[in-house]
Amino acid sequence: MSFRRAARSLLHTALLITVPTAAAGAQEATTTVIRAARLIVGDGTVIDQPAVVVRGDRIVEAGPASRVTVPRGAKVIELAGHTLLPGFIDTHTHLTSIDSDGGDLAAIQETAAHAGIWAAVNARKTLDAGFTAVREAGAPGFADVAAKSAIARGIIPGPRIFAAGAALGILGGHADVNGYSPEVQLPGTGTIVNGVDEVRQTVRHHVKYGADQIKIVATGGILSQGDAPTASQFSDAELREAVSEAARLGRKVMAHAHGGAGLTAAVEAGVASIEHGSLVTAEQGALMKQKGTYLVPTLIILEEIVKDGAKKGYPPYAVEKAKAIAAERRTRLRAAFQAGVPFAFGTDATSDIHGRNGEEFHYMVEILGATPMQAILSATRDAAALIGISRDAGSVTTGKWADIVAVEGNPLDDVRRLEKVTFVMKGGAVYKSGGK
Ligand SMILES: [Zn+2]
Repeated sequence: MSFRRAARSLLHTALLITVPTAAAGAQEATTTVIRAARLIVGDGTVIDQPAVVVRGDRIVEAGPASRVTVPRGAKVIELAGHTLLPGFIDTHTHLTSIDSDGGDLAAIQETAAHAGIWAAVNARKTLDAGFTAVREAGAPGFADVAAKSAIARGIIPGPRIFAAGAALGILGGHADVNGYSPEVQLPGTGTIVNGVDEVRQTVRHHVKYGADQIKIVATGGILSQGDAPTASQFSDAELREAVSEAARLGRKVMAHAHGGAGLTAAVEAGVASIEHGSLVTAEQGALMKQKGTYLVPTLIILEEIVKDGAKKGYPPYAVEKAKAIAAERRTRLRAAFQAGVPFAFGTDATSDIHGRNGEEFHYMVEILGATPMQAILSATRDAAALIGISRDAGSVTTGKWADIVAVEGNPLDDVRRLEKVTFVMKGGAVYKSGGK
């Protein structure tokens, strides 16, 4: 089915729901059965020659084809030689960004309208790559909330979006635009907040306008000028306020932190995840393990900035910063992963990484020493747990959303097969079939 037809049929379904009960017979959901060579369930197990029964937007049954009852009249999708998997989940994306023309400048040259257009383009690429859900990590003008709504209504194709709104950061920090004259007033790349009261107010503001989670900046960064990746930013009291106010409103907090005291403070304040964690120490890893804090490693972005950041238009200071920590980052992250710190899959997709999110899998295998199965679980079971959607997502099992993807062959033998998703179903609707 083409994207447009899929979108239209989703819209149609949405409209039908509003029709009064007299039309109930017309709402009979279609039943589809998918057969393939194997199913990677998303709980660590594999089923050979599986059949998955989908009715409406949910999975009704999944198991060996020999034991699954195929309902009469069901539409059958045969994916011979393919492996089925749960739709992938990227827990760190910026769908609203195409900032290859140079970091800070986007904040002063572009509007939220640009961000909304980029989101429409990138959402499609991301879904096409097999990612049926993403957790956004900071977007201007609530453009991520707008994209989420447009996708949910079937206006544009894309993954399920868990929105953050703009990241919260301190004056002069990673979410600010620095290095210019104080006589020129520039907006931040995020929302600049100072003090416990402003943190509380901004968390409430973001939730009011649709944030599903709160993104805070706990340390300096790579793409920001004049701050070290290990320099602390928010005070301990501000971090605690962000977490407790978010929790009161039923939201989790994701914290940008590369290392140093700011990383420890964020974990101690109770954030759900540390984003990047580039220079995480053994002690910090132990604390994260004890508190159940996820580490979202975003390997691809740093590897690519080191490799050809200059060519891609990243500012020289960013390329220098990335290079300075590259080797140590690999060692530290591998040690944390091997020590059993919970990891959730995340790419920090920006610029040309949108649609190549699946390349993070092989970096997890090469850099962290993950098995292909561990890498897959980080993007399914563990990513769903971090977002808080385990009841609906993360595995191909009875009752969950029918978010199912397929690749040719066996990705457990060659992890790079996960970069070539040939089939994408989201909420029971097929968005891609037979592509490459
Ligand atoms: Zn990010």
